[in-house]
Order: sequence, then structure tokens, then C-alpha cells
Amino acid sequence: MSCPRIEVDLSKIRRNTQTLVKRLGPCGVGVTGVTKAVCGHPAIAQAMLDGGAVGLADARISNVQRLRAAGMTGPITLIRSPMLSQADQVVQSCEESYNTEILVISALAAAAIRNGSVHGIVLMVEMGDLRDGISPENLADVAKQVVQLSGVALKGIGANFACLNGLGPTALQMATFCDLANEIESKCGPILKVVSGGNSANLPWALGERATGRVNDLRLGEAILLGVEPVSGDRIGGMHADAFTLVAEVIETGAKPMPSPSARIDPTTERLRIVKTGAASARMILAMGYQDTDIPGLSMPVGSTLIGATSDHLVIGTPRTPPKVGSEVRFQMNYTALMHAMAAPDIEVEFMCNPHTQPTRHSQGKIDTLALV
Ligand SMILES: *Cc1c(COP(=O)(O)O)cnc(C)c1O
Repeated sequence: MSCPRIEVDLSKIRRNTQTLVKRLGPCGVGVTGVTKAVCGHPAIAQAMLDGGAVGLADARISNVQRLRAAGMTGPITLIRSPMLSQADQVVQSCEESYNTEILVISALAAAAIRNGSVHGIVLMVEMGDLRDGISPENLADVAKQVVQLSGVALKGIGANFACLNGLGPTALQMATFCDLANEIESKCGPILKVVSGGNSANLPWALGERATGRVNDLRLGEAILLGVEPVSGDRIGGMHADAFTLVAEVIETGAKPMPSPSARIDPTTERLRIVKTGAASARMILAMGYQDTDIPGLSMPVGSTLIGATSDHLVIGTPRTPPKVGSEVRFQMNYTALMHAMAAPDIEVEFMCNPHTQPTRHSQGKIDTLALV
């Protein structure tokens, strides 16, 4: 197996999805699996669908095209406002997209007419995150314009929290968002199919005491992939936090003095020379660096400390005898590290267990019913 590599346990991604689907289902909330952190990797997307996700969503059209090229025919929503320059590609590969600009929506309408299709529009509402979104006062106005355009159909509204300001939604914000759904329906006519309340940061709200009201969808990436709630960073009970493991190879071992402050020439390397002198007695260098992942987002092996990293080297202090040159060291990743590693050209993605073959191992005695593809 090549190094560095990401080992992916698809059964954990499937089970994480299943757990969330089961918890949210009774509240009337479906799960849309968000694949942007894994660059629209088709096998990971499939594991989300196998776990009960009702559809997929991604922020980039290139990732959606990768899913389509792999034969995914189910609904895929673009959850970042489309670029005006990509209107044709958006209507060709996505059933629906999240939108905030009427200029873009008009371009999508024209593109859909050229394509002989009708493109679904979900209007993103600004509910306090201060990233993208139409302000609630202007929402009905934009919705009316969408309803009048041919080539597009108003499918719903969406909110987003904790992306720019790092704050999860309050019950009051969610209640206001639900009221907006009712208001748009009464002013514009069509029943909103999608009332999408937000992302993984909505889970404490959705799984809490209060009713989830009109919200019938959450777009979940981080919670499914890493089993954590992004605002607190807490693990979600019953979820797997180790579906992904990053593996790198040791290329040098031995002791060296700690880098002195005068050696800090490059600000990017300085940033990481954070270890107090004397913290580690031995060290190892791994063939992996900033080119591959967001180094501060890695959890170090127990007892080891991060000394520093450059574009291609990762220097780790270890209190024990370091592993031999040629051996492998394993890391868990946070969301940013995962996202960078999945996009790195030199990192292989390897699957530890295939969701389609795994059940066959547990199905001894039922061989007759197995459909071997
Ligand atoms: C990334 C993203 C999501 C998923 O966020 P997670 O925190 O990974 O669940 C949902 N909606 C939008 C608009 C996003 O950009």
C-alpha cells in the first residue's frame, strides 16, 4: 500500500449516516449527505446513500461531475451559489441549486430552457451567519421573481449556520426560519418541498427538546464523516470518529536539538515550531507536509508532539524510541485536515471495507440470496 494514504472505512460512514437518519427521521428531518470535504468521492457518497441519505449535495460543480461520471443518478444539489459562468454545467448536472442572486437564477432559467429541463431553486436565507444568503425582508420579493421565471421552479428555502461566525442556531432563529417558510408559501403560491435548516451545527438543536417545526432537511457532512458536532468539536454519541485514517511513512529518526528561534526564517514554518524545548527526547521525520494536509489538524500519536512541518516534511518528537525508518505512523484528522488530504494529488484513498461486499461475510448460510455483482 502506498504512503501517504487515507484509509477509509466505508461501513463506518454508512453506519454514521444510518444513526443520524434514525435519530432525525422521527422529527420529520431527512439527511442530505454533503460530499465536498471528500471532493465528491463516489464510494463515500454511495456509503452515505446506503446509510439512508435521501440525496447528495456538494459545493463545487467539479465534484458533482465526478459523482455523475461514476454513474450516480440520484438527486444532487449544488449548495454553493452557482457561478454565473457555470450556469449551463449546473443545470446539466444538478436537479437543484442554492441561490441568492436573481441574476444567477435568471441565467440558470435560460440555461435550463436551452437544456430542455426545469431547474430547482432553493433560496438561501441569511439567518445570522453573515456568509451567503438573502435577507429575510427581501426573501418574498426574490421568491416571487423566481416563481414568475420559466425554466426554474421554486423548491424551497435553506439556512446556514456556524460557517463564518462559528455560532450554531438558536431555537428563536430556527422558529423565525420556519415562519419564513409559511410566509413564502402564502405570498408566492407553491408549497416548499425543501425547508433545509442547516448543517452539522444544527444537530444539537435538531436532537434537542424542541420540535423541529417545518424543517424537513439537514445537509450533513462533518457529522457523518467524522462523528463530531462542529461548533463544540464534541463527538456525537454512538458515532464513529475514525472512519478516516491518514498514514505516513518515517524517513528519518534520531535526536536533534530543537530548532532555535534564530532558525525561524520562514513565517509558514515558524507557525509550527511550537514545541517547548525538552518536550521530546527523540524525533522522527515523516514524508508528508503542508502540500498534503493541514498539519495542525492532525492528532498526534499518543505521547508524541508536533515539532514542526514544511511543505514536504513532518517532524514529530517522541518520548520513546521512534519507529524504524520505513514504518508507518497513523493519524486522525479534523475536518480541515481531511478536506486538504482528500484533495492532495499524492495521497491515495484506500478502502478498508466495501459496503457491498461486507454484508456477504456476515451472511453465511444465506448464500442463495446473495446478488454478487
Ligand atoms: C459545507 C456545507 C454544509 C455541510 O456542513 P457540515 O458542517 O460539514 O455538515 C451544509 N450546507 C452548506 C451550504 C455548506 O456549505
